[in-house]
Amino acid sequence: MASITGNIMSLAWRPTRLRWRTSTAVWACLALVAAALVFEWQSYSAAMAQAQRDSRNLSASVLRHTMAFMRQADIVIGMVVRLHEGAALDTGARTGLREVIIAQAGAQPGIEDVYVYGADGTLAASSWAQGRYEASALGREYFGFHRATARDVLHLGKPYRAEHDGQWVLPVSRRLSTSDGGFAGIVVVAMRASHLSEHYAQLDLGPDALVALITREGMVLTRHPFVEKAMGMSLRDTAMYRDHYARSEQGTFIATSPVDGIERIASFKHSSDFPVMAVVGLSKAHALAAWWQAALVNMAIVGVLVALLGWGGWRHQRLLRQQQGTLGSLAAANRRLADLEKAIDEHAVVAVTDVKGRIVHANDKFCALSKYTLPELLGANHRVLKSERHDKDFWRAMWRTVARGGVWQGEVCNRAKDGSEYWVNATVVPFLDERGRPVQYIAIRSDITARKQAEEQLRQAHERLSDANASLARLAAFDALTGLPNRRQFDETFAKEHRRAQRLGGPMAMLMVDVDHFKQFNDTYGHATGDECLKAVAQATQGVQRRPGDLAARWGGEEFVVLLPHTDAEGALVVAERLREAVQARAIAHRGSPLGHVSVSVGVHAVQPLRGSSMAELMNGADQALYQAKHAGRNRVQLLAVAQEDAPSGVQILKVAGLKPRAVQPAPRPVAVSLSSEALLAS
Ligand code: GH3
Ligand code: MG
Ligand code: MG
Repeated sequence: MASITGNIMSLAWRPTRLRWRTSTAVWACLALVAAALVFEWQSYSAAMAQAQRDSRNLSASVLRHTMAFMRQADIVIGMVVRLHEGAALDTGARTGLREVIIAQAGAQPGIEDVYVYGADGTLAASSWAQGRYEASALGREYFGFHRATARDVLHLGKPYRAEHDGQWVLPVSRRLSTSDGGFAGIVVVAMRASHLSEHYAQLDLGPDALVALITREGMVLTRHPFVEKAMGMSLRDTAMYRDHYARSEQGTFIATSPVDGIERIASFKHSSDFPVMAVVGLSKAHALAAWWQAALVNMAIVGVLVALLGWGGWRHQRLLRQQQGTLGSLAAANRRLADLEKAIDEHAVVAVTDVKGRIVHANDKFCALSKYTLPELLGANHRVLKSERHDKDFWRAMWRTVARGGVWQGEVCNRAKDGSEYWVNATVVPFLDERGRPVQYIAIRSDITARKQAEEQLRQAHERLSDANASLARLAAFDALTGLPNRRQFDETFAKEHRRAQRLGGPMAMLMVDVDHFKQFNDTYGHATGDECLKAVAQATQGVQRRPGDLAARWGGEEFVVLLPHTDAEGALVVAERLREAVQARAIAHRGSPLGHVSVSVGVHAVQPLRGSSMAELMNGADQALYQAKHAGRNRVQLLAVAQEDAPSGVQILKVAGLKPRAVQPAPRPVAVSLSSEALLAS
């Protein structure tokens, strides 16, 4: 029972460990997710920083190239301006100017056309033949700009389509001044927008990237990829112009394009030489695509790990709940067991032994009954209680049963410490291991000593009763004084022998014995001596029995009978005489008898019972013969003498050989044949 409590205690630590594991799983999930988020945030920041760096570098690069492009225009313009300052625009000068322009324009790949307009707006010279373009520049924005502005600045005009081939051109212009600073016209260099676009297209910017050239005032000069509506568009009213382009010389920001609606990481850089800036915008989606891809993979891995941890945690949680349930059941079972143990301890004698019979537990009742203390019992072998009441086979059978895992039940007598014996009704139950082998035995006993004692008393009472019954039976069948079979037994035997003789044929005889003058003996010697005399006569009577069927019995008073089956009159007379002599030989003094000693008279009768004859005939015959013997003087044997014709039907009178003729003479009345013993022996 203690081991059950031990099992429960050993289970108790497991849920704690499980709880620890479950919370660990939760924390591990959270830590994993947090680490993943931090990592992804860092990766995102790195990708963004890289994209910003790339866009900055690209915007610087684009600006450098654009400046080279601008410088072409600037060189040509500068050349024209210097020529103009050195000569009036007369016809000769115009011719020279045109040649220079043509030469310069042809030499610069980015230049489409070069025009020179006079102060009135008329075309003074161009790199193309007359009439290709409008002769007047009066309506042009850049002409108006220079005429209105006294400063000598390079002006970038609104892009437009060339009339002759529809290509987009960027007009770059500068004013011509008279010697006193007055307005003398303008020089316009029409730059090929496609020249810039081709260069931008060569840059590896990734999909949805944007390169734009924008004037300081916010007008779009060109854009790659090309969008027609964007050409010449003013961005002055946009937030990106206000917040970025107008505020600083260079910068990076994220914005959605008003042209195509794509969100980009954009960098811009103003030129220090020209009123223009280069803008490079890298698609944010593209810049973060690799990060997104890696992030998705990482998140998937983290998700799988979290799911695994979560699943593990869930399983542990479920296990925990199950074990808590089991623990609850175990605790309840333990309580029930404790109650049962208490109840059993209250009621029964309990001991637990190991497989070798060593006592490992004993309750108070066990100690009280065995009279040993618990410390004396613990570790001791159960053999100390063995009594000598049971043999080796008894114990062998018990151990064989329990060693096989069976339950043994039986009544055992044990010996207490003080040597007294006590009885128990024992049930021995083995505790089995997982493989079904006994590891301990519990013996539950009840004290049945009182019952056993009662049973013993009952057994003794039974013995006494059966003894009493036996003596009763003896009393019923035997005479108390002489020990001879009594008349009842004689009657039964006589009836049986009579029937047998009737059935099988053959003679049977009977002696009727009576002590002579016995009344006198009693009167002379007293009744007690009379009894002793009767015992002596009984012994003599008993002594004449020779054959197994002979039966001597006390007939009553001082009379005895002897039944002699298979015996004829002759044999019966011999037995009778032997009896008479046996009594006489005892020489029991009898003053009241003329002989001076005790003697008996014996009536003898023998018959051949036929079918239908009665037992009374033999008895009566013997009785009559006795009467005749008494009558003839006592101390003698008398064979009943009757005539055959007077014999009752079914009775054959047996003749006795050697008897004197008168003794067998037929007579109407029974005639006594009186024989003295001498006469009988002489015959
Ligand atoms: P008889 O020779 O004619 O037989 O004379 P008897 O004196 O024997 O006469 P009877 O047969 O009438 O006497 C029997 C006596 O035996 C009477 C009785 O007192 C005595 N008697 C009968 N049973 C017992 C007995 O059990 N013990 C003793 N002591 N005497 C007995
Ligand atoms: Mg008598
Ligand atoms: Mg008598």
